[in-house]
Amino acid sequence: MSGYSGAIRIISSFHRDSSELPSQLVAPVTFRHRRYDDLVRTLYNVHNECPYITRLYSVGRSVKGRHLYVLEFSDFPGIHEPLEPEVKYVGNMHGNEVLGRELLLQLSEFLCEEFRNGNQRIVRLVESTRIHIMPSMNPDGYEVAAAQGPGISGYLVGRNNANGVDLNRNFPDLNTYIYYNEKYGGPNHHLPLPDNWKSQVEPETRAVIHWIRSFNFVLSANLHGGAVVANYPYDKSLEHRFRGFRRTANTPTPDDKLFQKLAKVYSYAHGWMHQGWNCGDYFPDGITNGASWYSLSKGMQDFNYLHTNCFEITLELSCDKFPRQEDLQREWLGNREALIQFLEQVHQGIKGMVLDENNNNLPEAVISVSGINHDVTSGDHGDYFRLLLPGTYIVTATAPGFDPETVSVTVGPGEPKLVDFQLKRSIPQVTPTRRVPNAGPGGRVLPKKVQPRAAK
Ligand SMILES: [Zn+2]
Repeated sequence: MSGYSGAIRIISSFHRDSSELPSQLVAPVTFRHRRYDDLVRTLYNVHNECPYITRLYSVGRSVKGRHLYVLEFSDFPGIHEPLEPEVKYVGNMHGNEVLGRELLLQLSEFLCEEFRNGNQRIVRLVESTRIHIMPSMNPDGYEVAAAQGPGISGYLVGRNNANGVDLNRNFPDLNTYIYYNEKYGGPNHHLPLPDNWKSQVEPETRAVIHWIRSFNFVLSANLHGGAVVANYPYDKSLEHRFRGFRRTANTPTPDDKLFQKLAKVYSYAHGWMHQGWNCGDYFPDGITNGASWYSLSKGMQDFNYLHTNCFEITLELSCDKFPRQEDLQREWLGNREALIQFLEQVHQGIKGMVLDENNNNLPEAVISVSGINHDVTSGDHGDYFRLLLPGTYIVTATAPGFDPETVSVTVGPGEPKLVDFQLKRSIPQVTPTRRVPNAGPGGRVLPKKVQPRAAK
């Protein structure tokens, strides 16, 4: 990337009262672990340096009242532009897994600086994408881990939130429903939240669920540590036969090939993840299906896929959960390209508008792709995004009260193909019917026979 040294930053300075100082001061870049106050200061600094392309907001507070900050990058911060996809990064969900937090702060500084430097790749990315960066989902846990410091930190100290809950085991379990529906029929997307979900999750989880429901996110990554591998859904194993033991069974989503590609984009753009041998483990290509590694219930990536339009993967980024400060620069250089390339992956497949005959937007229209049993929906502005690998697909748009429209689309490897739909109202006397897998926005019906499993 042009013009970025990675090691030093030139700061213009005006020291009129000190003739000894050069007109430019060379300061070391701050590759350091940042406590909460420092994190907040960094985010405000980036916003102040790049006010026209950033917005800093909080999605809620932790148990101890710390903000869950998000820094947004966009050419129109705070505004969803139709056909411009929303992406997100979440770091430090486990408070003692700190590399993601520092990488996301570094990434924020990098995006700001490179945009200002006119780096064409970064300018294009920011102008075509709305990027949301949450460096820490568990600021309370971080403070506990950081009080111990690198090396001394126990393997689990600071992992949980201040109530002692593992946030990546705290999302509503929707897998049980989808596995039922896959077998017996039912909605294949946007599974509803249980009625009592708010009382069953932690404040951090609740804030994040509200957040991911209020934007039409398309792509996401959740940054962890303790291994080096790109982990894709499902995390929860379908296999229940070995109950009581560690159950591992490859449990692919209907979008398995796409998820593998997304994971590989990260692992191959990463300095060493793709080599496979890391931290004493071996993962071919540096990727793994979550459940095939080890099964976990109520994780965030499965929830994103089953409840929203968002495709999320989980990135394990360092053997050492709390790396030494001296290692941070090497880690940044090993991850920088991968963090950018992954964001660029949101620009593939198909996207377009769903409109009625009078050109009104149709939100919550269902977009189905033949052969992939996972639909997506249009957002509030009637725009939809469907990530797809190159190929030819039969795509259908449906909305309650409208006739479905089906088209054949060939997707190339480059930019997403624009496919708009203009749906005609159904003839009034005909009762609208929907295909079985598509319950659509109105069809939020729970299968009554299956109850969520008890927490592990
Ligand atoms: Zn973790």
